[in-house]
Amino acid sequence: MKYALLSDIHANLEALETVLGQLQDVEAFLCLGDLVGYGPNPNECVEAIRNLPNLICIAGNHDLAALGQYDLTLFNPYAREAIRWTTRQLQPEHVDFLASLQLIGQHPPFTLVHGALPELMEYIVSSADARLAFHEMPTPSGLIGHTHVAEYYRQPVNNKLVERMDLYSGGDIHMEESFRYLINIGSIGQPRDGNPKASFGIWDEATNAVTIRRIEYDLEATQRKMNDAGLPEYLAQRLAVGR
Ligand code: ZN
Repeated sequence: MKYALLSDIHANLEALETVLGQLQDVEAFLCLGDLVGYGPNPNECVEAIRNLPNLICIAGNHDLAALGQYDLTLFNPYAREAIRWTTRQLQPEHVDFLASLQLIGQHPPFTLVHGALPELMEYIVSSADARLAFHEMPTPSGLIGHTHVAEYYRQPVNNKLVERMDLYSGGDIHMEESFRYLINIGSIGQPRDGNPKASFGIWDEATNAVTIRRIEYDLEATQRKMNDAGLPEYLAQRLAVGR
């Protein structure tokens, strides 16, 4: 079975629809949270995700924030303003869907968390962070999002030495039995690794390979919608630079 790996959509419908257009032969979907926040189409994006077949979806910090379940003082002023806008927009059925999401998921060989382990909304930005997460992870490998940086870490099963590899241009990860993997699939709706192309993944269970792909979408259309909605200009501008 082939699984799509989706994360950090951030209400960017143009990016999400472009990515889903590439996933016609995929039978199941693993989504790592942050469906909303920042972008102009929270309802449409939640609807598109919740209608996917064979879906496991967990919540991100922006999903919780939109529900009033996350401390907004942890957000920068732009993110806070966008979340307040998002909360006003969200229709009750989409609020209910977001409220139904768990914070941690499992689909062997993967644990699914938005940010990190053991603190689920922390950021993994170094091999030291990844080493701690490997130590806490109940499964051999893990899938994460949250930093909006596509990259992966691997650790041999017989020692603790963690290596980091970037996925700035996408790439294939052939998962070997002798390693554990922690794969950040990057962001669909607001990449921050300097590459503005939407990032997503496909896991082929049969070959145990994860492919990360980067794809262009009509980001000017998203920017126009953000401006029309009165969302902070900075949030629209950053889409073009991928930061
Ligand atoms: Zn995010």
